[in-house]
Amino acid sequence: MRHVPHVPLPRIGMRVVKTAVSVMLSYALFVPFGLMYHEELGGVLGQLGPTYACIACIICTQSTLGQTVQQGISRLIGVAVGGCLGIAALQMGTLLDDPWVRMPVLGAVCVAGVWLCLLIKRPTACGMACILPCVILISRVTGDVRYYYAAARIIETVAGVTIALAVNALLPDHRKEERGAPTPQEFLQSIKPLCVIGDPVGHSLSPRIQGAMLKASGLDAQYRYGARQVPAGDTCRFLAHAAAEGYAGFNATMPHKEALVPLMDELSPDARMYRSVNTVCIKGGRFYGYNTDGVGFLQALREVDMDPEGRKVLLLGAGGAAKAVAPKLIQAGAERVFVANRTVERAAALCAWDEEGRMVPRDFRPETLRALAAECTLVVNCTSLGMTGTAGQFEDLTFLEALPHGAGVFDLIYSPAKTALLERAEALGHPISNGLGMLIWQAVFALECFTDTRLDRPAMAAAARKALEEEHTPALSSGGAGEEKGT
Ligand code: NAP
Repeated sequence: MRHVPHVPLPRIGMRVVKTAVSVMLSYALFVPFGLMYHEELGGVLGQLGPTYACIACIICTQSTLGQTVQQGISRLIGVAVGGCLGIAALQMGTLLDDPWVRMPVLGAVCVAGVWLCLLIKRPTACGMACILPCVILISRVTGDVRYYYAAARIIETVAGVTIALAVNALLPDHRKEERGAPTPQEFLQSIKPLCVIGDPVGHSLSPRIQGAMLKASGLDAQYRYGARQVPAGDTCRFLAHAAAEGYAGFNATMPHKEALVPLMDELSPDARMYRSVNTVCIKGGRFYGYNTDGVGFLQALREVDMDPEGRKVLLLGAGGAAKAVAPKLIQAGAERVFVANRTVERAAALCAWDEEGRMVPRDFRPETLRALAAECTLVVNCTSLGMTGTAGQFEDLTFLEALPHGAGVFDLIYSPAKTALLERAEALGHPISNGLGMLIWQAVFALECFTDTRLDRPAMAAAARKALEEEHTPALSSGGAGEEKGT
């Protein structure tokens, strides 16, 4: 049997149908004029024919509705520019009969047309701006007929563009059927990278948390999240790299949170207040800095029924985490926040934020803590005491015994899952919570920033928690080696 070569044929899809319909309509519209087309008839009507309308239709129906409008405008501008230049050149009269004059004039007119169209940022108008003078100058049209000729081309183009616009609007969008499934390469290229940067970053739970949330929200088709070890001093370099590589954003942990502040184009009110950035979004080459620690903390607190409104709070520590937590407690309506810190000056500096004196600095001696605990209904630990991997432990936890019945104890530490502070508080019958909720909620808010989407927040938090539980995250068990702070 003879081998018959396979000749690929173009598919008759919506684009072809639209082109055919609009060309037929244009032709039908101009048939009467086409039949009487004759230069000597004079007047605009005598010059009309279907050619330019059909060309406009063919070009415009290759695009979407919005692009059709732009194409149409460009074609009209091109016709107007070309028509004016061609007619202006015709003022040279009989001189143009000499081809040695006509040729350079035509070249100059075309250059002028292209230059004018580019000047008004309409490159697609250049074609018509050149074609029309060519037709006017090369054809044997003479006298007033030249003006009718130019007007006829404009009318034809307007009619063609209008027909194309109507056909494009009335028939289904051809892009949907043409789009088809993306190739694996296209698919990979469309995925925007996200990550957490830090040093160390190996123990970060953020990739697991964000990965689970991306999957649960279906956004994993658009984003992927990883971890990048970025040493101190390399913050600026990483920013440039992230922008060049098309990152949608990244989270930051030690030691970059403060270093990012002056590098941002814009800061959220919280990031500006804490002078610390834990979430960076990159849009249009600009850097937007957020800090989701405070809102994450507040959400986690409310989730375990420890809403600070109207409470007196004993806040332990005045480091980086306390800077985000203390103002949020005040903003959420805490009556007073006693900031007890080993270095009292640090506590005083933190309390200076509240000009109304609702934040009060205190020392960290056991007797001070005992006295404060007696009047507080919420304790929040923002020190690193009790965290896995640090040698430090509370020397004295007797202050917990002074707490009123039912007072809540919230520890920002989540590794181990239950610090000595929480164990003791639980044994005394107090409601307790570790910092895992805060870690998860700050991630939920960060993901909303990255994706510019309002997500199903409870579903996101649940997915993250489930992923951490399923993987038996070592950092969350008492024997873990995680030393991560926050993100
Ligand atoms: P930081 O800036 O280093 O501050 C540490 C705080 O602990 C300071 O107030 C420090 O007091 C105090 N401290 C350290 N050793 C002490 C000791 N032996 N006795 C008394 N006080 C001591 O750390 P951070 O960034 O604020 O983080 C604090 C904790 O919060 C960490 O365990 C971190 O993992 C946790 N965290 C959790 C989340 C979350 O999402 N759950 C987020 C952020 C942080 P001085 O001022 O006197 O040094």
